[in-house]
Amino acid sequence: MDPSSLTSMFASRLARARTMMESHGVDVMLLSVGADLPYFCGYEAMPLERLTMLVVQRDGDATLVVPGLEAPRVVERPDVFSMRPWAETEDPIAIVAGLAGPASTAAIGDHTWAGFLVDLHAVMPSTEFRRASTITSPIRSVKEPDEISRLRVASAAVDRIASRLQAGEIPLVGRTEADVSAELGRQIIEEGHDRVNFAIVAAGENAASPHHEPGARVIRDGESVLCDFGGTMIGPDGVGYCSDITRCVSIGEPPTEFAELYDVLVEAQRASVEAATVGTPCQEVDRVGRSLITDAGLGDFFVHRTGHGIGVEAHEDPYIVEGNETPLVAGHAFSVEPGIYIPGRWGARLEDIVVASADGPDPLNLVDHSLAVVES
Ligand code: ZN
Ligand code: ZN
Ligand code: ZN
Repeated sequence: MDPSSLTSMFASRLARARTMMESHGVDVMLLSVGADLPYFCGYEAMPLERLTMLVVQRDGDATLVVPGLEAPRVVERPDVFSMRPWAETEDPIAIVAGLAGPASTAAIGDHTWAGFLVDLHAVMPSTEFRRASTITSPIRSVKEPDEISRLRVASAAVDRIASRLQAGEIPLVGRTEADVSAELGRQIIEEGHDRVNFAIVAAGENAASPHHEPGARVIRDGESVLCDFGGTMIGPDGVGYCSDITRCVSIGEPPTEFAELYDVLVEAQRASVEAATVGTPCQEVDRVGRSLITDAGLGDFFVHRTGHGIGVEAHEDPYIVEGNETPLVAGHAFSVEPGIYIPGRWGARLEDIVVASADGPDPLNLVDHSLAVVES
């Protein structure tokens, strides 16, 4: 995108935020560390003790309060926000309070450090603070066409890694989980990501722990290995988009019992993806796949929700979980990742990113879903 269309992209996002602020009775929005800030202005705050904060007045301007020494990193967009660098001896909390004015309600970024909120509270005693996610999440969760393209590019990158894994081109036997995890991390970067967010490698019985920390466990012949990995690709506008995929491989022919479990998982995942049509409540996408796993007698071993939204954050709205009655709308992007975990024995998960679209569910991960058998 050229600079002027970037400016209009950020301006239109802020305009949508101001409309939400109006309907929610919010006078000022304060965004600091976390994904909201780059999404709305293209700048990511350093997660440091010096305060960086975008002050968005509902009926006025947006001003980025930024430590003076970090100001050179800011790509200025005068049509979107003005900049207020602060010197080492200034008080940034007083600067933010001054820009916020006599706000009766302020929405503050959920990831803002608690210390800054405590300090702001002290100088703005009559202001009610709320989570900014009530404003930002409904906006961020519905992806623009360009965001979907970028999620697709990131997904294709991890698909290429998964397909090498399935082809046996990433050696497993005799290596530790941590070693394979490090190799996946290198490939995530080589395939165009700027950051590795995670690279879970869980062998044999370790795969029964959904968020297993890869360690010194050596991968052996005859077992299955679960790999769940993803990263962030940052675009020229300073905004990053995440990938997230899970595939399992069996080293040698799998035991019949595991192959049967995996077949149930494939059917459940496919059913949930097919259910992810515009208008379907998020919880229904969870129920459709879960019921197949329950019917197979494995319901007690599917111990987590079916999925999470994805975008500038690896986990964001909408969550695909029982109790979430939000109907899917075109542009919602989320994971569909059922898993079956048998403690002490083995586990499996299968994960794709899917976008709800007017033409039906649009899966961004296309690499083979079957249990790949690799040579030892
Ligand atoms: Zn997870
Ligand atoms: Zn994942
Ligand atoms: Zn995920």
